[in-house]
Amino acid sequence: MKKNIFFRIFISHLLLAFGISLLLVAFSFRLVKKHYIETLTNDLEKIALALDKTLRPYIALGDFSTLDSVVKNMGKKIEVRITVVDSKGVVLADSEEDPEKMENHGMRSEILPAFYGKTGSSLRFSETVKEEMLYVAIPIKDNTDNLMGALRVSLFLTQIQELLSYIMRNVIIIAALLTVFSLLAAFFYAKSLARPIRKLAVAADEVAGGNFNIEILTEGTGEISRLTRNFNDMVVRIRELISELSEQKDSLKVIVSSIKEALIVINAEEKIVIMNDSFREIFKSGEIKNKIYWEVIREPKFEEIIEEINKDKKDLTREIRIHDRDFICSAAFLEKYNEIVVTLHEITEIKSAERIKKDFISNVSHELRTPLTAIKGFVETLLSTAKKENKRYLEIIGRQTDRLINIVKDLLKLSELEDIEEGKLDINLSKVDLKEIISNVLSIYEKEINNKGLKSIVEIDKNVSKIKADPFKLEQLFINMIENAIKYTEKGEIKIVVKRDKKSVLIEVSDTGIGIARKHLSRIFERFYVVDKSRSRESGGTGLGLSIVKHIVQLHKGEITVDCKLGTGTKFIIVLPIN
Ligand code: ADP
Repeated sequence: MKKNIFFRIFISHLLLAFGISLLLVAFSFRLVKKHYIETLTNDLEKIALALDKTLRPYIALGDFSTLDSVVKNMGKKIEVRITVVDSKGVVLADSEEDPEKMENHGMRSEILPAFYGKTGSSLRFSETVKEEMLYVAIPIKDNTDNLMGALRVSLFLTQIQELLSYIMRNVIIIAALLTVFSLLAAFFYAKSLARPIRKLAVAADEVAGGNFNIEILTEGTGEISRLTRNFNDMVVRIRELISELSEQKDSLKVIVSSIKEALIVINAEEKIVIMNDSFREIFKSGEIKNKIYWEVIREPKFEEIIEEINKDKKDLTREIRIHDRDFICSAAFLEKYNEIVVTLHEITEIKSAERIKKDFISNVSHELRTPLTAIKGFVETLLSTAKKENKRYLEIIGRQTDRLINIVKDLLKLSELEDIEEGKLDINLSKVDLKEIISNVLSIYEKEINNKGLKSIVEIDKNVSKIKADPFKLEQLFINMIENAIKYTEKGEIKIVVKRDKKSVLIEVSDTGIGIARKHLSRIFERFYVVDKSRSRESGGTGLGLSIVKHIVQLHKGEITVDCKLGTGTKFIIVLPIN
């Protein structure tokens, strides 16, 4: 860095100074030469004009030998070469050579314009004296303005060269001095510029390495000092942000570790990013940071959940049993970070209370069945011999016993379904023909339907083939649904529709009865929930029918929904997956 910035500034200044000096020398040389030659040309012209008057009489008289000696004499005195030619270019006199030995000069570039009455000049190599010369020629005219010839004065360029090289020497000395001065200036400028930049670079390296306790002393007032100030401000800001962030991180860590729910965050590479103490306690795991989750949590059900959420990218909630403890496992997929957050909420106690309650209900139901059947039998026996006034009471006892028997039966059915759900009992799956089941159930209730004057409609799509299900449970489902439809419908129709798509069978059981008010809809599948208690009791309802239906649907991994408006009838929609 040191070499770089300093070197670059220095070299660029050096090149600049050198270039400028070079230009200066070349330009000044050209300029001086041009100006000098122009001045000399003017001087030579003036000399020629002065000589013209002196030399003209000799030409007019044709005394060329005197002319030549005058010319030679004058040439020596004024140190210029003088040449006189006649109007045809024949050399009449020359201060340096014998005119007779000289060739015709009529076509010389400086003499030609003189023949046309103008002053001619030329800078060229003289073939006669074999040297570079500057020539100026003027016309010589007689009194009547007729051309008599041309007078040429010329100067050896060696003199000019000498003068120019003298000037050149001086210019070069000035340029060299200029270069040296600018080099010194460049050296100090580069040094002063490179120092703060170097400091900045060192500080930036420190910051990149994580050291934020750094400050650079500002130098000068220019852009570099502004940059330095901004750098210092930036470092302070970063320091503040980092401490803010680490505070936030710490508090988040405290929150995460203090919550009772077990929490774990797994990233896209299936590595554990966060895991709190509760989670560690459940899985009895030690150091986990950056480990693959299944190396730490060896629980197939947990792996299943992670795999499923990874596949579907949808949040899910499921009950899960780990090391004899029950949990509600909620897994959320964070799309933005491609991470999965899993929380485990322990429900072991709730579950065990539920289990106790269930066992109690199941035991009570079993225990009640026999005495109730006995009571029913005795009531019937007594009824046949009872006096008229007692008959009414015996009939009431009979009806209530029936109700109790129905409740016990339904409770036993529910308990059986729950046992299947918990895996204590197996579900009896086989190929089931829905059409057959529906017509069987309708035939059971044919009398009731006719008595009420209702119409029964069955629509089954042709493509509905047999599905894999428990036939007795499905029959129970239709019994409960159709019984309810008849029970709560006074006129109109009961309609059963079965359709099929790629993955599931859709069953709709609808009626034109009293319907269910919206506020009850969310609760009708609960045990013992009845909308109208007296009506339900009157019709022998137990409040357990829909609860049984829901369990049967769930056992078949299906879903049940209800769609109805008060007064216009009810429609139950069941979706059962084909596989
Ligand atoms: P119940 O034995 O009382 O019929 P269910 O569990 O079968 O108990 O039904 C719960 C409640 O849902 C019933 O009390 C009744 O109010 C309502 N319900 C069920 N089916 C229908 C229906 N087809 N039309 C109107 N109400 C219904």
